Amino acid sequence: MNLPELKGVPPDVLREQFREQGLPAYRADQIASWVYGRGIEDPEQMTDLPQELRERLNESWRFRSLDVLRADHSTDGTIKAALRADDAAVVEAVLIPEEDRTTLCVSTQVGCPLACSFCATGALGFGRNLRSAEIVDQLCRMAELLPEGRRITNVVFMGMGEPLLNLPQVIPAVRTLLHPKGFAMAPRRVTVSTAGVVPQIAPLLEAIPVNLAVSLHAATDEVRDVLVPLNKRFPLDVLLGTLRGLPRLSRRHPVFFEYTLIEGVNDSVEDARRLVRLLEGLPSKLNLIPMNEHGDSDYRPPAPEVASRFMGVLVRGGLTTTLRRSRGSDIDAACGQLAVRQLPEERPAGRKPAAPQAAPGRASSG
Ligand code: SF4
Repeated sequence: MNLPELKGVPPDVLREQFREQGLPAYRADQIASWVYGRGIEDPEQMTDLPQELRERLNESWRFRSLDVLRADHSTDGTIKAALRADDAAVVEAVLIPEEDRTTLCVSTQVGCPLACSFCATGALGFGRNLRSAEIVDQLCRMAELLPEGRRITNVVFMGMGEPLLNLPQVIPAVRTLLHPKGFAMAPRRVTVSTAGVVPQIAPLLEAIPVNLAVSLHAATDEVRDVLVPLNKRFPLDVLLGTLRGLPRLSRRHPVFFEYTLIEGVNDSVEDARRLVRLLEGLPSKLNLIPMNEHGDSDYRPPAPEVASRFMGVLVRGGLTTTLRRSRGSDIDAACGQLAVRQLPEERPAGRKPAAPQAAPGRASSG
């Protein structure tokens, strides 16, 4: 059934399409309210639409793009789900409930072509880009897994894949998240993460006013070349120079940096000092994430006192820094662990990258 996917069309574009087809634009708004506001995907249940239109919708659109294949519940409340598309591709999404918010981490690709050496998704290789509707449908499917009374308040594009390599599908999906007739989320509650696809950073922020997160993970090119091989194309000075040139950065709109702390690789005092120098004057917030171990990598997290010492150097250096508590690691739902591990037969058919290189030593001693 090759019908167009309704969730791939942002609500404002749907209005336009209705107008062009001679249908009242407010009907498009009604449909969006049913789908995104009330989670109804069967046109027969859209009771304020005329019967003729309900039938037409049934014949012309697909309302659902993913199914929940499996959901795992962590002891800390985190929920990870494997979601299957119509071609049997499987991606994962993670819900992270906290006291005052519920964050959904969504995927943008099946697998990932960037092969970061600490990341289980990178070890899968690349399957395909997700379509916009499949990105949006992750919100719909995951919302159904939440306990009564909970709703998704924040969305981070930090699941499987590199969002900036799939921008033509990510942008319409974010538009649906932000649109008042879509999920009506405030832009500050949506964060798109990149490993550093430099040419796409400005186009992303020109198209949609979301938070930008950058997976940094190292303070030298020597180490980052191994952890994030994309660094060989866009080294640190190019990446950080691009970020410094962004027009709308301020204390209120900082860049969010992610830094996975790996024992003996990037956790020295000298690394922390370098980070302070690298990020000096750049409006930013830094998230330290102790490495989450998984079977595709030999990397380990540093001892808690090493992580605390690292953070201390950053804080004293004036960087706004948080040391993130790992969530969902008992169900392989933490950062860098998404790999559809429970379904080996469902893994995307894609390039399997070479085994990760050995971890580099520190570039120099502290
Ligand atoms: S860390 Fe992100 S960009 Fe790197 S391989 Fe994993 S999913 Fe891809």
